[in-house]
Amino acid sequence: MKHQKLRALKLFSVAFLLAIFLIPQNAEAQKRKRGKKKNQVETPAKPVAKKSKEKKIKDLVKSSKKIEGLFTIYQDTITGSLQMLISDDQIDKEYIYFSQIADGVMDAGRIIRGSYRGSKVFKIKKYFNKIEFETQNNSFYFDPESALSKSKDANISNGNMASVKVEAHDKKKGLYLIKADGLFLSETFSQIKRPRFPGTSPTAFKLGSLNKGKTKINSIRNYEANTDLQVEYVYSSPSVLNGGSNAVADGRNVSIKVFHSLIEMPDNDYEIRYDDPRVGYFLTQVEDQTSTSATPYRDLVHRWNLKKKDPNAAISEPVEPITWWIENSTPVEWRETITNAVLQWNVAFEKAGFKNALAVKVQPDDADWDAGDIRYNVLRWTSSPQPPFGGYGPSFVNPKTGQILGADIMLEYVHFTNRVMYDKLFDLASLNKTFENSEIEEDHKMYCSLGHVMHENTLFGNAVLKASNASDLEMKRMKKEAMIALIMHEVGHTLGLNHNMKASQLFSPEQLADPDFIKGKCLTGSVMDYAAINITKDRSKQGQYYDTAVGPYDVWAIQFGYTPFKSKSERTALLNQSTKPELIFGNDADDMRSPGKAIDPRVMVGDMSNDQIAYSNDRFEVINTMMKGIKDKFSKSGQSYQELRQAYYILSGQKGSAANVVSRFIGGVYVDRAMSGQKGETQPYTPVSLEDQKRAMTTLSKHVFAPNAFDAPNDLYNYLAMQRRGYGFFRSPEDPKIHRQVLGYQKNVLNHILHPNTLQRITDSELYGNEYKLSAFMRDLNNAIFKADIYTNVNSFRQNLQLEYTNMLIDMLTGKQNSRYTNNAKSMALYNLKNIRTMAAPSGNISSRAHKQHLRTLIDNAIKEIK
Ligand SMILES: [Zn+2]
Repeated sequence: MKHQKLRALKLFSVAFLLAIFLIPQNAEAQKRKRGKKKNQVETPAKPVAKKSKEKKIKDLVKSSKKIEGLFTIYQDTITGSLQMLISDDQIDKEYIYFSQIADGVMDAGRIIRGSYRGSKVFKIKKYFNKIEFETQNNSFYFDPESALSKSKDANISNGNMASVKVEAHDKKKGLYLIKADGLFLSETFSQIKRPRFPGTSPTAFKLGSLNKGKTKINSIRNYEANTDLQVEYVYSSPSVLNGGSNAVADGRNVSIKVFHSLIEMPDNDYEIRYDDPRVGYFLTQVEDQTSTSATPYRDLVHRWNLKKKDPNAAISEPVEPITWWIENSTPVEWRETITNAVLQWNVAFEKAGFKNALAVKVQPDDADWDAGDIRYNVLRWTSSPQPPFGGYGPSFVNPKTGQILGADIMLEYVHFTNRVMYDKLFDLASLNKTFENSEIEEDHKMYCSLGHVMHENTLFGNAVLKASNASDLEMKRMKKEAMIALIMHEVGHTLGLNHNMKASQLFSPEQLADPDFIKGKCLTGSVMDYAAINITKDRSKQGQYYDTAVGPYDVWAIQFGYTPFKSKSERTALLNQSTKPELIFGNDADDMRSPGKAIDPRVMVGDMSNDQIAYSNDRFEVINTMMKGIKDKFSKSGQSYQELRQAYYILSGQKGSAANVVSRFIGGVYVDRAMSGQKGETQPYTPVSLEDQKRAMTTLSKHVFAPNAFDAPNDLYNYLAMQRRGYGFFRSPEDPKIHRQVLGYQKNVLNHILHPNTLQRITDSELYGNEYKLSAFMRDLNNAIFKADIYTNVNSFRQNLQLEYTNMLIDMLTGKQNSRYTNNAKSMALYNLKNIRTMAAPSGNISSRAHKQHLRTLIDNAIKEIK
């Protein structure tokens, strides 16, 4: 008891003492606090205020994880927010910024895995207590020797992307700490969300607004030469009209993951190579503002910094090869074929003096890096919803020199499948549309539709092979060749090469139909073309389907881009070979894929051989023959008729494609880009011969406009059925729209040959060698569309065609676009209309009479409107 009391007293005493000891301290502290407040209110008390504001870096990063690299990043371990260190020696220095999409959705406008978004140079600047990030303009060159160079900044805008307050400054170490959330969690460095094109349907899918609360950093990888962050942008909208495709789980919240890379400016002995119009490299355009030349171009070719280990050896291994990694997601059975296809390019590099310029490795399954890492060039595989391409080979460069710093190749699994991606098969106009819509893409020229074209080609090959009872082995060979051609093409892009749509001129139709002659060869001058699949009419003589080696143009182009030239004359001598037939070149800007675009019919997609008209004629005939047997060949017991329907559309789509190829000869003008005085030079512009234009017209008459051009066995139509899936037929009835489809192909041709550009060129080129006069061409066209049946019964295909064509002639005179047509073309349109009026006198069955009456009424009304 006593003891207990004593203990209690002791405890009390301790507590009391503690209280005495502590209370005054607390009171003191509270007094101080109050005093401080008082002080601040009553007097400015400068020294005190300054002391409390001056923060130290180490205090501000106390709760953060330090991630060292090119730019040291601190990430708060509680909130995840970012701070970044900038050092004195980084100020006024240039860096490269590059971004690519880690993952996105097609719905957002082709924002998808592996899309490169271009690179730019930025400078870090200091402005009082702020750090600025400024985009540099590298489009102009001023000779430093010229006094004009003093005004090199005149009327040129750089872009201030961000101005961020310095939170703390370590004078001794020369370090500035800034908050970095604003830099990376918003669209500071690049615009992610695409603007809406005027005229976009209001019901089209739309990304919401950037949701700063949900946007976050997914990963930070920091290396000595680059700082990489993966940011997940979330775009939110409270309610959406269009929730997007199945790829979008919730249209109100869409995630786009983006890699941002801040890269050290390379300091190396890279040798700039300037572009030449005779070879097709990707380039960065630079204008020499101090030059008086008519062509003051210093355009930088995009190429790798490939150096010989032994500079004196004729052929040497490179100091560092261009190394490709096959992503570990690649189907194992294809890895060897892919490796061999990549290494085909070494053949071209040997001619440029390099041995083993390219190397291929396989990404280990347990690799500690992922394919989005810019330090690795990776051949990647995906199987995406709505794949926009079968392959895509982008690269990014130092914008100041053109040196390629990294590349990837994206391949889509759809390439191996029999999936038809779109209703409109092989529609050249839609290919072009994709191209135009990607204008927003900084590197839009790098977009490649080859995988797409190749897939259509392979589906066609598949249909032909099946219809002609080919073996499984043969089918496998065709697919393997397609894979080799696709990989070589995409690798070609990553080496700096752009398309060469003229290359398919290399061999004659006879050579292409000779299996021994073409074995192991590139069927075209370059793997960079979008050529047609080589299908021989005589099925017993089928040889190679696709390119299995790089072509002569490819070898020459690599020589131009990579040979360590010892003198200017060595370079000139190589370029002067451009007049050799196997080295002809024309890129996407020169190609005639869409109506009215470009002028040289040899620069075309989906074509083949140096006689495209003859080759296309064969193609029409192969398809017409195949069409007769497809119902039996594609009707499989126990299966729906989906594959048969597909085969029908693939075959007829290829007819449409062949028709487009032929139509480009009408009013065509061959282009030669040789320099004046170059050996083998012809005049730059030579109109297509009268004979070939007439041949083209005859082919179109027979295979596109004739009453029986699209004949198919009528009972085939009864079987063109799609397999029902859920409520899939809700949107539109399922029956095959045969007339609409055929008219579509015919209209594609008419849209080109009656395009204002084509008609203007026909008249103009009459002055410099065109012998197929506008009057003759337009009379021939009128005859092709009317003569065969206007005095008798007109079938439903022809009624469709005749009405469409008549309306086109009327539009030339009175339509909204009539001012785009030359007067000569308008006069011929009127002449033809009057001719049709006479021909369309009542005759034939009731349907034909009604049709002719319709034609006459249209023409009578139109003539009244002409002023
Ligand atoms: Zn391409």
